[in-house]
Amino acid sequence: TNIFFQPIEKINAIIESYPKGYAGFKRYIALLDTEPDIVDAPGAKPLPEVEGNITYRGVRFGYDNNRPIVDGIDLSIEAGETAAFVGPSGAGKTTLLSLLPRFYDIQDGAITIDGKDIRDVQLASLRQQIGIVQQDVFMFSGTLRDNIRYGKLDAPDEEVREAARRAELESFVEELPDGLDTVVGERGVKLSGGQKQRLSIARMFLKNPPILILDEATSALDTETEQSIQRSLNELAQGRTTLIIAHRLATIRHADNIIVVTQDGIEEQGTHDALLERGGHYAKLHGAQHVYV
Ligand code: ATP
Repeated sequence: TNIFFQPIEKINAIIESYPKGYAGFKRYIALLDTEPDIVDAPGAKPLPEVEGNITYRGVRFGYDNNRPIVDGIDLSIEAGETAAFVGPSGAGKTTLLSLLPRFYDIQDGAITIDGKDIRDVQLASLRQQIGIVQQDVFMFSGTLRDNIRYGKLDAPDEEVREAARRAELESFVEELPDGLDTVVGERGVKLSGGQKQRLSIARMFLKNPPILILDEATSALDTETEQSIQRSLNELAQGRTTLIIAHRLATIRHADNIIVVTQDGIEEQGTHDALLERGGHYAKLHGAQHVYV
């Protein structure tokens, strides 16, 4: 399931771009006629630029207060590591990771980044440091340039071009009638699934967050596109703490830590080799060449 749904990402970009921070955000929310239930704690301080050490301690959360989806979760992810979350559909992988940008607040335990409880810092400064690449890419009707710049609204043209280059969007841009100024989206040139993924990667190169959440695409891309996007994602992950919700075992083989999440919580974790050696859940999946979708 995809709970990093678009309106949140949109609000996210707006909150980050708001000079007045939360007050501005609240006005925007008022326009939407909804009350945000996640707010800055009184006296919350901005989160200074983080290295990206993440811990979950005794974390419990359920969409319904009385029915936890995850409970007693303990996790440590070191700065710069790639951690991949695998497990059956509905086990709570997406839920676990949606707690980090505080899309929801936990009901027990604590989540820290660089030792700071995420509930004690300003939401905008927290979300500024977490980038999300998900399957459904939010696009608005406008130029390709503006759609990329959505990752960092004040980015100069040079940076936008550089981000497009790093996301390997260049050859596509060259074929467009007006290059980066071509209108895309509903009223303009339609982007393929792969191009949308690249757009979303370009946004993240611009945003340059120390922490990255990748919700691996389950939608079918041809093998070549998939492999080249995988290369771009690997490059994007360099030097960042990267959390991947994985649906294909092949893409996470080299992860520093593979975390197997089941209905009962974290069943096992370790490197690919260590988990194979262990002969548990992961090894079984691997043996069966099981593919999660
Ligand atoms: P998948 O691999 O299919 O994406 P997942 O492991 O990421 O699954 P989650 O999406 O976290 O699992 O879902 C865990 C449980 O929480 C499921 O029972 C799901 O129905 C429920 N759930 C997910 N999002 C919501 C929501 N916004 N409101 C209520 N329940 C939800």
